Amino acid sequence: MTTGEDAEKQPPHGTTLDDYTDRYSAALRGMTPSEIRALFSVANRPEVVSLAGGMPYVEALPLQSIAALVSEVVSAQGSVALQYGSGQGLPELREQICEVMDLEGIAASADDIVVTTGSQQALDMVSRVFLDPGDVVLAEGPSYVGALGTFQAAQAEVVHVAMDHDGLIPSELKATLERLRRDGRRAKFLYTVPNFHNPAGVTLTESRRDEVMALAEAYDLLVVEDNPYGLLGFEASPGRALRSRSQSRVIYLGSFSKTFAAGLRVGWVLAPHAVRDKLTMVSEAQVLSPSNLTQKVVSEYLLKYPWREQIKVFRDVYQERRDAMLHALELHMPAGITWTRPTGGFYIWLTLPEGWDAKAMVPRALAHKVAYVPGIGFYADGDGVRQMRLSYCYPPPERIAEGIRRLAGVIGEESEL
Ligand code: PMP
Repeated sequence: MTTGEDAEKQPPHGTTLDDYTDRYSAALRGMTPSEIRALFSVANRPEVVSLAGGMPYVEALPLQSIAALVSEVVSAQGSVALQYGSGQGLPELREQICEVMDLEGIAASADDIVVTTGSQQALDMVSRVFLDPGDVVLAEGPSYVGALGTFQAAQAEVVHVAMDHDGLIPSELKATLERLRRDGRRAKFLYTVPNFHNPAGVTLTESRRDEVMALAEAYDLLVVEDNPYGLLGFEASPGRALRSRSQSRVIYLGSFSKTFAAGLRVGWVLAPHAVRDKLTMVSEAQVLSPSNLTQKVVSEYLLKYPWREQIKVFRDVYQERRDAMLHALELHMPAGITWTRPTGGFYIWLTLPEGWDAKAMVPRALAHKVAYVPGIGFYADGDGVRQMRLSYCYPPPERIAEGIRRLAGVIGEESEL
C-alpha cells in the first residue's frame, strides 16, 4: 500500500513516459521495435506508394469461395473447429503438409510436423528450444527482421555471414565457423532463407546448397531452413530444399502465409523426432494448441480447392509486379545505384553509393510520398546503412512504377546535396 508520504516522494503514476521500466525483463530490453512497423502508419496513407511492407496480395484469392469454405467448416465440423486441439496440430492437416513439401523434394512423415501459428511462432519456438543468453546464431547478412527479433529476444548474439547474388557464400560460412572454433565457441545453428530471400531477393544456387550442407556436416552445425517463398518461383523452381539433403541436420519452417492466406496464421515446423517433442512442448506453453478453426480451413482448402492453380495465380501476379519494378528501376535510377534481380518472392534489395544513409533519407522519401524499409533493420550489427528493401508484392504495377519514379527523384536530389 502506498502511504501519503511515499506518494509525495514518487512522481504520480502516469507522469513519466513509462512507469514500468524498472520491472521489465532483461530479455525485453534487448528487443527493439521493428523499423517496418514504425513505418507502417505513414506508409499506409493512401497518397504514399508503399514499397515497405511485405503484405501478400490476398485479393488474388477467390474470397467468396473461401467464405463458403469457412462457413462449411463451422457448420459441418464446428464441434472440432471451435474446440481446443492437439499441441502438435491436426493429423489430417499434417498429412496434407507432407504433400505440399513433396513439391519441394522433401520426404517427411506427418508425425515429424508441428503446426504453428505462422512461421513466426516457429522461429520463437526454435529460439526457446535452443538459445541461451550469449549463444551464437549464424544468419545471412542481411537477414529476416522477424527472425533477428526472436534471436535478440533470446539474448543470442547474431553473427552475420555475407551473401552475394547466389545467396549465402560458403567460403564466408567456413571462415566464420573456423573463427568461432578458434575462439572456442560454437554456433547453436545457422538460420537461412535459401529461396527468394527476405530482404535480399536472392536464391542459393544448387551447388552452394551442397557446399553449405557439407560444411554443416564437417562442423556439426544445425541448420534452420526458413522457406515461406519457395513455391513462388517465376522462371523455374529454386534448388531442392536443404531439408531434402539431410533429415537430421535441418529444421525446416514452412508457412501458408504466402501460398494461401497470411491472416489465417498457419505454418509448420518439420524437425528430427527428439526436437519435435521439445518444439511441441514449447508451443503448448505458448498457445496450448494452434487454432483448430484456421487449421480446418486450410485443410478443407487443400482438399477441395485447386490450390496448386492458385499458387500459379499468385506467381503471375508477383512476376508482373517484379517486372514492373525492375523495368522502372532501369528506367529511372541514376548511375551508381545497384539492385538484386529476384527470380521469385517479394523483394528487391537496393544499394546506394558509398557513404549514403538510407535511413536518413526516409523522411525525404515520405515527403515525396514513397516508402521503403532502410537496410539497417535487417542486420544485428549496424550494417546495411546504404541499403534498402523494396517490396513489389502489394501495390499494382502502375503504382510500383510511380513509386520507383518518386524514389529515383529523391535519390537524384540526394546526389545534388
Ligand atoms: N520468415 C520469413 C523469411 C518471412 O518473410 C516471414 C514473413 N514475412 C516469416 C518467416 C513469417 O511468416 P508467417 O508467420 O506469416 O508464416
